Amino acid sequence: MNYGNIKYYDIADGVGVRTTLFVSGCTHHCRDCFQPETWDFNFGEEFTEKEEDAIIASLKEGFVEGLTLLGGEPFEPENQRVLLPFLKRVREEAPGKSIWSYSGYTWEELNDPENRRCHTEDTLPMLKLLDVLVDGEFHTEEKNLGLRFRGSANQRVLDVQESLKKGEPVLSEYNEREKIK
Ligand code: SF4
Repeated sequence: MNYGNIKYYDIADGVGVRTTLFVSGCTHHCRDCFQPETWDFNFGEEFTEKEEDAIIASLKEGFVEGLTLLGGEPFEPENQRVLLPFLKRVREEAPGKSIWSYSGYTWEELNDPENRRCHTEDTLPMLKLLDVLVDGEFHTEEKNLGLRFRGSANQRVLDVQESLKKGEPVLSEYNEREKIK
């Protein structure tokens, strides 16, 4: 898996100060995507143990709230294969930090065993390691700059652990409609 960027001290992509990993590769090709260069799976650099170590070290800072996975598409099957063992490491080595992920796939698509595009043997184990999933493709016709943590109104900020418990998507407390001023 390649990545395009790692943003340290990010305050835009989740709650609090976070480390954000922008993975490469996305097959959604949403109209007006804000970073189409990341569609290419070969964009950027290879994600290696060196990057894993640096991210985990950053998460150990007391004021850093957690990790956010962005893209590109973290839930493309080839990216899931690399991110699952990495997230296990994060949980073990930086306990207590929150993990958010963005995905152009919806909760329903990710949990549909018939959906060969995104559902793999790694999907449920990966979801189990997340606190929050912001799901859905970017729909330019539903774009709303006033939304917090998401770009278009169709996207949802989901509480992953509650959703897994209930077996259906449950909105997170962070799914407020408007940005906090
Ligand atoms: S899912 Fe995200 S990265 Fe992929 S095309 Fe849509 S907006 Fe762009």
